[in-house]
Amino acid sequence: MRAFIDPDTCLGCGVCESIAPKVFRLGVEPYAKVIADPVPQADEAKVREAEASCPEQAISIEEQN
Ligand code: SF4
Repeated sequence: MRAFIDPDTCLGCGVCESIAPKVFRLGVEPYAKVIADPVPQADEAKVREAEASCPEQAISIEEQN
């Protein structure tokens, strides 16, 4: 799985980082960045939760085989 954040939509609220801190990190801009690419299998469920919880729908997921 790969995760992406749209910097034009992200508010920098930090919800994704609080749910999946090993995958998302707030940058200085401030908007969140993906710091684990690809997403470790152990964090995939948290990434799906973060995607569903993002208030701006700024997170997208690309499933891989
Ligand atoms: Fe940005 Fe969404 Fe993460 Fe909030 S939850 S920091 S809006 S990507």
